[in-house]
Amino acid sequence: MTLKYLIKNITMVNEGYSTTTDILIYDGIIQKIGNIYVEPNHNVIDGTDKHLFPGIIDGQVHFRDPGLTHKGDLYTESKAAIAGGTTSFIDMPNTVPNILTVESLKEKYEIASKKSLANYSFFLGVNGDNIEDVIKTDTSQFIGVSDDGLYFTKKGNLLADNPETMEKLFANCKSIIAIHSEKEAVVEKNEQAFREKYGDDIPAKFHPIIRSTEGCYEATKQAIELAQKHNARLHILHLTTEAETHLFQNDIPLQEKKITTEVSVHHLWFSDKDYERLGMLIKWNPAIKTEQDKEGLLKALLDDKIDIITTDHAPHTLEEKQKPYFQSMSGAPMVQHSLNCMLEFYKQDLISLEKIVEKMCHNPAILYSMTNRGFIREGYFADLTLVDLNSQWTVAKDNLLYKCGWSPLEGTTFQTEIKQTFVNGNLVYDHGLFYEEKSGMAIDFKK
Ligand SMILES: [Zn+2]
Repeated sequence: MTLKYLIKNITMVNEGYSTTTDILIYDGIIQKIGNIYVEPNHNVIDGTDKHLFPGIIDGQVHFRDPGLTHKGDLYTESKAAIAGGTTSFIDMPNTVPNILTVESLKEKYEIASKKSLANYSFFLGVNGDNIEDVIKTDTSQFIGVSDDGLYFTKKGNLLADNPETMEKLFANCKSIIAIHSEKEAVVEKNEQAFREKYGDDIPAKFHPIIRSTEGCYEATKQAIELAQKHNARLHILHLTTEAETHLFQNDIPLQEKKITTEVSVHHLWFSDKDYERLGMLIKWNPAIKTEQDKEGLLKALLDDKIDIITTDHAPHTLEEKQKPYFQSMSGAPMVQHSLNCMLEFYKQDLISLEKIVEKMCHNPAILYSMTNRGFIREGYFADLTLVDLNSQWTVAKDNLLYKCGWSPLEGTTFQTEIKQTFVNGNLVYDHGLFYEEKSGMAIDFKK
């Protein structure tokens, strides 16, 4: 028998409003929203003074499974996600093997069905090696194609560096094409200049000068022009510069956009001021840039030039991070604290609760055409996050759930706390405890 949960007197943040109500969930679904009488078989949760959000949908993570599971895996990282209020994620193809075929994609779904506590979907990888196969494949089978992370395995495989490959893809691929937008030629030229001066030991603070604004801007501008030429469905991943935000539209609804973009939480949270303190721990590609870029990204998020918020959660071991510049891996774990970070901005009056929900819950569901997720609506999956907006705690090693066991946010005090997370109607996270009997589901999307 499935448990019936009745959340009483909860302030629900949903579709532009915050209202106090009751919510009844069972059989995986939000059954009723409104004034609901308690019945003997209800498990009542008192929502007084708490807020309820739709579960966060993270459009870009690297959970490292299969093949790189010393960094993280679909079990550990989905568990961390759920403790942070994230109930669904889309994982990137740069695992081992790279997910470049429909067969390997199927295998990844198989692994996730056994290990993931959260709902999952996966990008099919695309690069110079499999472009011919991808354009012959029925793209309705997957949520999107992406080159993110794949250039680490083979230099020069980034779509942004190969206008001809990119053009071929844009002309033929009907699915969402999500690209990592940096010009490697610009980066390499800058790397060379710094290598001459510092050898292998380039200080972390030069990372945004090497992975420069110019490299990002040129790549994004070109990708947009090519996508427009072919009327392709382009999504630019993790935007990092104020300059790029002006390349995007905000005068049509998300549903009608052919060109969309996202910002990752760390690019809103950190700036180049933090390299001194955190060094290689905040080495990301594309790089954390200036304070002005950080402010520009938030502004573009608020005025809808940026459509969604992701984490680009990318765990590496501390050992892999704490190496000289060229050997230090780019990326860091963020998925456990994405909602907490955004709620700090709310506390600082920089963003409303409703806008956070729009960018972290509603819009990812719209952008990726997900079925019955991302909103608190009767008949939708009961993916829900219950939050206390007045509860202080500090990020420390002993409250991290990542397999890699570290976070660039260690020592950060948050003023909000995720108390409970429901995934498909199951209470999976409950005040620090996990109920792991039920696993996540493959995310259904409109084909
Ligand atoms: Zn990524």
